[in-house]
Amino acid sequence: MRTPLIGANWKMDKAVHGGTASYFESFRPLVEHSDRYEILICPSFLDVGAAVAATRGTRIGIGAQNLYWEKEGAFTGEVSGPMIRMSGCSHVIVGHSERRHYFGETNEIVFKKIIAALDAGLTPVVCVGERDRKKVEAVLTEQFRSSIGGLSGEQFARIVIAHEPLWAIGSGEAATPETAANAHRFIRALARDGFGAEAANKLRILYGGSVNPDNAKSHLAQPEIDGFLVGGASLDPVSFASIVNC
Ligand code: PEP
Repeated sequence: MRTPLIGANWKMDKAVHGGTASYFESFRPLVEHSDRYEILICPSFLDVGAAVAATRGTRIGIGAQNLYWEKEGAFTGEVSGPMIRMSGCSHVIVGHSERRHYFGETNEIVFKKIIAALDAGLTPVVCVGERDRKKVEAVLTEQFRSSIGGLSGEQFARIVIAHEPLWAIGSGEAATPETAANAHRFIRALARDGFGAEAANKLRILYGGSVNPDNAKSHLAQPEIDGFLVGGASLDPVSFASIVNC
């Protein structure tokens, strides 16, 4: 049985320092009885400290949105896995499509970042997804083989995959539950080929792309969908809590 994970990616949208504490004041009581799901919030680096402080003693995990693959050194502006772990994070998003698109992250870079996250004791939430609806299988195969396929079995057991079709991100047009479930089935088949049936069965595959309180329930009704990575609808604590409680 896979425990669903409902994750929030605040991107750069809630970067104004100070809003984080009041978000959690509203959010915490709304989810205090939600014990069926793992809850994760990924604020900007600047807000990680406030988020960790505001969620201490709760079931809400905090993650970063990115990391650099070196542990330390002269890499101005970068943040390493050990730094993220030390700041109190449990997870880190790796290979989000915005990082691939705007910052040139290749599958090879994503692979290095996954390893760095695992070495630091973080759970990487590895994003994959197609731009073109007609190329789902080809794109997922390439991304899986090049950025995940080289992991050891022990490493693979510690990752979470988020399938986020690019056309669904921020567009208001979510993939239908069936379309998403088909893609997840395909990813699980890739996992089975690479890492065996048991590892594939345990792998959590989240869906991301225009999830909101109205469509969350029908997606989660699909056994192949093990939770969400939510952008826009996670910025409001009431809206994100109703996704968690759906
Ligand atoms: C995302 O960017 O990870 C995302 C899923 O965004 P949205 O929910 O806004 O589509």
